[in-house]
Amino acid sequence: MNFDVDKIRGDFPILKKTVNNYPLVYLDNAATTQKPKIVIDKIRHLYSQQNSSIHRGVHWLSEQITENYEEARRAVKEFINARSDHEVIFTSGATGSINAIAFSFGEKFLNHNDEVIVSAMEHHANIVPWQMLCERKGASLKIIPINDKGELVMESLDDMLTSRTRLIALTQVSNSLGTVNPVEEIIEMAHGRDIPVLIDGAQSIQHGIVDVRMMDCDFFVFSGHKIYGPNGIGVLYGKEKWLEELPPYQGGGDMVDTVTFEKTTFNRLPFKFEAGTTNYTGAIALATALNYIEKTGREKIADYESGLHEYAASRLNEIGGIKIYGTAKNKISIISFLIEGIHPYDAGMILDKMGIAVRTGTHCAQPVMDRFEIDGTIRASMAFYNTRSEIDRMVEGIEKVKQMFG
Ligand code: PLP
Repeated sequence: MNFDVDKIRGDFPILKKTVNNYPLVYLDNAATTQKPKIVIDKIRHLYSQQNSSIHRGVHWLSEQITENYEEARRAVKEFINARSDHEVIFTSGATGSINAIAFSFGEKFLNHNDEVIVSAMEHHANIVPWQMLCERKGASLKIIPINDKGELVMESLDDMLTSRTRLIALTQVSNSLGTVNPVEEIIEMAHGRDIPVLIDGAQSIQHGIVDVRMMDCDFFVFSGHKIYGPNGIGVLYGKEKWLEELPPYQGGGDMVDTVTFEKTTFNRLPFKFEAGTTNYTGAIALATALNYIEKTGREKIADYESGLHEYAASRLNEIGGIKIYGTAKNKISIISFLIEGIHPYDAGMILDKMGIAVRTGTHCAQPVMDRFEIDGTIRASMAFYNTRSEIDRMVEGIEKVKQMFG
């Protein structure tokens, strides 16, 4: 495979760092990804050469940055294959996008005794906004269970869909187990009963091809920082027919057409959903990140990561006393595990002493931990700049943890 990982690593300045006198091994990519120099340079360039508020001025700087911002929207549209750029709304992140729909869709379409469905493997960001909405409206939240492998129990979904189901909100990839869900199948099932589906793409967007048209989801959300872009920027995709119908979720500048004390009329899409001064530098730098990913090759990235994942799983399985949580047939490069008899925090701290960054804890997915009756896991999540020798270093680190605590 034509994939030069050394060259790619050279694009990410932070990967040259040492931590505790060891070369950094960064395996916490599901939490956030590192930024290539081209994205860092873009942010510096925007603030030093182009900064001005968008959509407001007639002066040169304002026009330049507005054009770049709208260009970024077109880049996102291409990347996720939306029909139109006004189906792309910039938000603060996946959490911001889910809350926007929970509020806007919920206000309009949810009534007393209605139902929203999520799964047992959701990140808190795709649970709590729906819980809050259901509480406000006197509706109920139903949960698609997961099996011991960490896969959705599909048979139970069919029974769950009723005439009171208003929306399904589902993650495409589990951040704690790495499971890839059969979202197309679920969307088809839901659409058969006119139920819209929101897909949480926070963990899928960076690992392969996301095509919202092929998936046919009604809403799709993701965060910039998980796809090598900046923090504080995210995307809410919605089918035009929904976005036209939904009310704005925030009021303020830019989202209005006319304002009087008697009545306000709202701007057209996508601006209706972008109140206030948006994170325009973040949006533009996100487009730079997407362009970088496109140039590297999304299929190549997915292939490389899949090989790395297989290697990591087999190396971990060679060590005695390791239990992997999340053994679904269809997985991406996230591995949650426990070392027998050793608390994940202790393991995480020792690995850190060796310059190895893994995540320990519940990964904002406490119901998953409850399902498996554990307090938390160690999670190694790999990106396309990680290498097999880094996996070997993690394995050596785990052996050392075992010796220390054994
Ligand atoms: N959904 C999933 C599956 C996630 O993994 C995360 C973050 O880890 C989120 C939502 C929330 O993303 P953010 O904190 O960037 O809004």
